[in-house]
Amino acid sequence: MYKTFMPSTNITAPNTYLDQPCVRCGSKKRIAKTWKEKVPTFSGTTLVEYSQIICTNKACQKLFDENLEKDNKKREAVRVEKEEREKIRKTNSLLQAKKTSKAKAK
Ligand SMILES: [Zn+2]
Repeated sequence: MYKTFMPSTNITAPNTYLDQPCVRCGSKKRIAKTWKEKVPTFSGTTLVEYSQIICTNKACQKLFDENLEKDNKKREAVRVEKEEREKIRKTNSLLQAKKTSKAKAK
């Protein structure tokens, strides 16, 4: 079984090769970059360290990037759809409120 690589705080140097080969092609993988991001939590924010791991096999990495882009687009579409639905819901409830106040005014 392959273990998922978990970003850890020990990673300080970028361009570090991983012991674990690529699950797709078996080539070496390396850490392209690490960065820290503030992530909102219930009690404020927490600093999370992320690592971008890339495959040294360019063809494999390209495929991965394409898949990632597709995934991102899918996620973005879902987010937009959710927002649209929320907007419609708000508009509807606003209209409903207007109707009610008009009815009361008469
Ligand atoms: Zn690969």
